Amino acid sequence: MASQPEVGVSDFVLLDNLTTDKFIENLHLRFQHNKIYTNIGEVLVSVNPYKTLDIYGAATMMQYRGREMFEVPPHVYAVADACQRVLRQQGRDTCVLISGESGSGKTEASKFIMKYIAANTTENQREYIDRIKNVLIQSNAILETFGNAKTNRNDNSSRFGKYMDIHFSAGGDPAGGHVSNYLLEKSRVVAQQPGERNFHAFYQVSSSSQPITSPLLGHGSPSSEGRLLSSSKASKLGLSPSTQYQFLGPGRPTSQDGQLFAATNSAFNALGFPPRVVDEIWSIVAAVVLLGELTFSETPDGNLHIGGPLSQCVSSLGISSSSLQACMAGRVLCAGGELVSKQHSLHDAAATRHALAKAAYDRLFAWIVQQINKAIDVPSGTHASSVIGVLDIYGFEIFDTNSFEQFCINYCNEKLQQLFIELVLKQEQEEYSREGITWTPVAYFNNRVICELIDAPHQGIIAIMDEACLNPTKISDRQLLEAMDKRLSGHKHYTSRQLAPTDKKLQHGVDFRITHYAGEVTYAITNFMDKNQDSLWQDLKRLLHSSTNASLKDMWPEGGTTIQKTSKRPPSAATLFRNSMQALVQGLLSKEPFYVRCVKPNPRQAPNSWDEQLVRHQVSYLGLVENVRVRRAGFASRQRYDRFLRRYKMLSQYTWPNYRGTSDKEAVLVLLRDLAVTDFQAGHTKLFIRSAKTVHQLETARAEL
Ligand code: ATP
Ligand code: MG
Repeated sequence: MASQPEVGVSDFVLLDNLTTDKFIENLHLRFQHNKIYTNIGEVLVSVNPYKTLDIYGAATMMQYRGREMFEVPPHVYAVADACQRVLRQQGRDTCVLISGESGSGKTEASKFIMKYIAANTTENQREYIDRIKNVLIQSNAILETFGNAKTNRNDNSSRFGKYMDIHFSAGGDPAGGHVSNYLLEKSRVVAQQPGERNFHAFYQVSSSSQPITSPLLGHGSPSSEGRLLSSSKASKLGLSPSTQYQFLGPGRPTSQDGQLFAATNSAFNALGFPPRVVDEIWSIVAAVVLLGELTFSETPDGNLHIGGPLSQCVSSLGISSSSLQACMAGRVLCAGGELVSKQHSLHDAAATRHALAKAAYDRLFAWIVQQINKAIDVPSGTHASSVIGVLDIYGFEIFDTNSFEQFCINYCNEKLQQLFIELVLKQEQEEYSREGITWTPVAYFNNRVICELIDAPHQGIIAIMDEACLNPTKISDRQLLEAMDKRLSGHKHYTSRQLAPTDKKLQHGVDFRITHYAGEVTYAITNFMDKNQDSLWQDLKRLLHSSTNASLKDMWPEGGTTIQKTSKRPPSAATLFRNSMQALVQGLLSKEPFYVRCVKPNPRQAPNSWDEQLVRHQVSYLGLVENVRVRRAGFASRQRYDRFLRRYKMLSQYTWPNYRGTSDKEAVLVLLRDLAVTDFQAGHTKLFIRSAKTVHQLETARAEL
């Protein structure tokens, strides 16, 4: 592999005269030669090629097996191998943090990592391990079907955040896994931007209702290729592939949807989902589509009439027409211990239907993740000793209209950037100054101040929103904005229309803006209150719990309690999200991190096309040039003197079997002089070796003794 011609530099650390221009030039040059990967030390920069490259096969995998990152050309497999080596040799948990904007290649990178890890196992218990590997990989197919959608930026965009832990046995083989999912973009269930689609699952199930001619799809009987819904069941779902459905927009199912439907069913089968459960899942998906087709009108005597495919819809949901009718017509509240019924207007009925559709799908997704976890969990009795975590989470989002969802997603990116700063930039620099190492500090923007703007107790935006939601009188979005302005005016990263009335970008009068580390984002405050409260009427929960669809019933356990008992308000959506982010960051802090920073070369999803401005923006906010600066001043290895001595003292006659001088530090310096090692600095308590090559040479010398 070493014989491959070098294009530009394969590690940015080696770049002469580092500037952003030079950085981009090198990235572009390599991209033109299909060298999509470049290192910054151990951080991998990856540019989406938008074309199939022949660099992921078994032969390539073999080339990376057991090799140090600096020995081999940059590749996502090198990162996966390094993770696995740290885990096996040092028994340390590791994680790969994949970041980048929508369409930059995060999910593909996460799949390559899993593929590599799954392939790199020992020969022990082959059959058992193959099953675990298969199950881990198949779980991705299900997650993509239910959580991904075509957007204007990416035909297969993940609309949820995913963190997957892969557990390893003491022997270093995969033993199981666990998926955590974050904030599904559920508003997509009822409406999409022009040119976008709903979640893939909807089109897959619609395609199932027609006779499918693809050779992939058997004839309705269980098979290894995938279990189809039997045709009688499919027609019972009441969907037709040629009909245009409200919730599905103008897009029709394609033949690919048909093929993927088979693949999804095959994955359900591999994960051991019983056929009954699979049918129930598809019934719920179909029912959500049909909910969108219901029409509401008023009867002459003032009652609500539901038109459209009501009977198909309720039969797919496993509920009665009258109970759905009752929930759409009005709701029952518990006020001061008294039950009060409130009649819905036609507008309320339609809004209730939307809320029901979103909640049913959102809960379905979370429930599927739970079932996947049951299937891939480390079997009891097996001792899993270590973990590799893979984080594939939504990139920073700036749309024309940004709402509560973008607010959460961008907050998540702030937290991860903060983690990157803490782990890569700040801690390194702090250690150098603590150890008295000669070093020129690198300036970088610390985004902690933005994280605090959002999540500080009492003063942060989330706290202000929660306070507003708890107010006994209903607070409007505009009042929420006023409350935010009152507390946050003067914050450098916050402004709003009312605080800056002449600001042209804040046009709607109800907007606020956060200056994120990645750029300014203007948020429309409309619906923030509702989305944060995220409450589904108790009646609807009870309705879903009453279903004869056992899976649906299981998804809504709280629907089993009486209305009087459920007065306690659940935590708000933003608080739940903040808590899940904090738990995620906490978990990542205990692991040795590896980074893949993904870059999108153009907005058109086109191969061989380079949009300089777009790339520049990403390079800038990902902090890649600062990363190189820190890395350049950095050291490949740092070890306490006593540990270093214990490991290498046999390499010199002056230190073997024992050094006669006064301190470990002195002994190490003698040892290094004897070995003619010069690329190091001696800190107060630790030795810092600059290049990984030197460490490798020491290791080789030790092994050859
Ligand atoms: P989102 O945030 O929207 O989920 P993402 O960063 O996960 O985006 P991917 O879905 O991984 O983006 O990539 C988008 C598309 O780019 C893929 O469907 C694939 O067509 C292409 N792509 C990404 N990485 C590669 C690669 N290494 N080789 C070939 N094509 C790739
Ligand atoms: Mg993705």
